[in-house]
Amino acid sequence: MSSYLFRNGHVIDPVTGVDGQRDLLIVDGVIDCIREHIGASADETFDLDGAVIAPGFCDMHVHFREPGEEHKETLATGALAAAAGGFTAVACMPNTIPPLDTAEAVLSIRQKSDRFPVDIHPIGAITKGREGRELAPIAELHAAGAVAFSDDGTCLQNAKLLRIALDYASVVDAPVIQHAEDAALSEGGAMNEGYMSTVLGLPGIPRIAEDGIVLRDMAVVEYVDGTYHLAHVSTASAVDAVRAAKVKGLRVTCEAAPHHFTLTDEAVRGYDTSTKVKPPLRTRDDVVAVKEAFRDGVIDAIATDHAPHAAFEKEVEYVYAPFGIIGLETAVGLAVTELVEQRYLTLWELVERFSVNPRRILRLPEIRIEEGMQANLTFFHPSREWSVDVRQFRSRSRNSPFHGMTLRGKPLGIVNKDQLVWLAE
Ligand SMILES: [Zn+2]
Repeated sequence: MSSYLFRNGHVIDPVTGVDGQRDLLIVDGVIDCIREHIGASADETFDLDGAVIAPGFCDMHVHFREPGEEHKETLATGALAAAAGGFTAVACMPNTIPPLDTAEAVLSIRQKSDRFPVDIHPIGAITKGREGRELAPIAELHAAGAVAFSDDGTCLQNAKLLRIALDYASVVDAPVIQHAEDAALSEGGAMNEGYMSTVLGLPGIPRIAEDGIVLRDMAVVEYVDGTYHLAHVSTASAVDAVRAAKVKGLRVTCEAAPHHFTLTDEAVRGYDTSTKVKPPLRTRDDVVAVKEAFRDGVIDAIATDHAPHAAFEKEVEYVYAPFGIIGLETAVGLAVTELVEQRYLTLWELVERFSVNPRRILRLPEIRIEEGMQANLTFFHPSREWSVDVRQFRSRSRNSPFHGMTLRGKPLGIVNKDQLVWLAE
């Protein structure tokens, strides 16, 4: 028997509608009691001091580099980073080496992560080898545990394959996730094309590389009535295209990454390769458009696109560095600081974007903070300030442009699968 008592929490549960001060007792991984004051004692007691108790957060877009590039991240170190960031679940992209394009590969991710306190849900490749030529065995991958399909890291350029993939994925009721990037337009680019790329003398990736694919995809989705999710939206026009699709009633959802609602291409000024990411950091207008789209519900989920790279890989000239930013351990702080503090989202809406919506998009079971339910919870303090120090990260990699930044909103811990991960104060 293990028991944990949490006092003075602020339960926010959009599924049951609870928003208020509560004590919460967990016994053997199950919510035993939840009420305004609990007199009982437990093995361990935590005073939450008003911190939020939320349904477990789910990051629907991470890159854990196992198999193939374990020097960047493994499933185990990725799970540690996720727990430290306040996540009880992640969905991992299939661009490993080899990619997750077979049932065996998908099963292996699930088996290896079976005992972790963080649930790791594999996303299957849309095409064999992620080469964009031949469809992967969608139904088999789904039966093995793939929760969605994506060639992320590269865009599915071929509209005919997208059409067929949407059809097949509909049969198993799973979304197709697109990394929207016209390869011909973005080829050779290192940052957003515009004033800053001219100033810095770096080759640009034009916004139309993203916008064009999104507009085309919306037409395909409308034609076949598929279920489509747009990864890491970054431009004002792409946001507008999704908004228009939603108005039409298409089954389209989308996510944005914290770096895209936090940083502009100004951050590239020092040629810090930790700012090199796809899609690239855009302009002030784009950042504002993304934030506005959180407010009006066009953007459903916050997803980090956690993309670890080793220091030796990033410590090269900007044009040669790989694309990617790690995000798991800064996501909650950045989201509270940029979206809640600046009144784009309420705390309630933040919990929806971090937990309820991504789980709904991936067809994962909903979490209810109720007596008798398995505890799957995220604890975070919405007003505590802290300073980002990449040396403290649990991730195996350090490629974060947020080092040294002061953020408001700090993850305190998680409970999932009868395991408590509590972060030292
Ligand atoms: Zn991507």
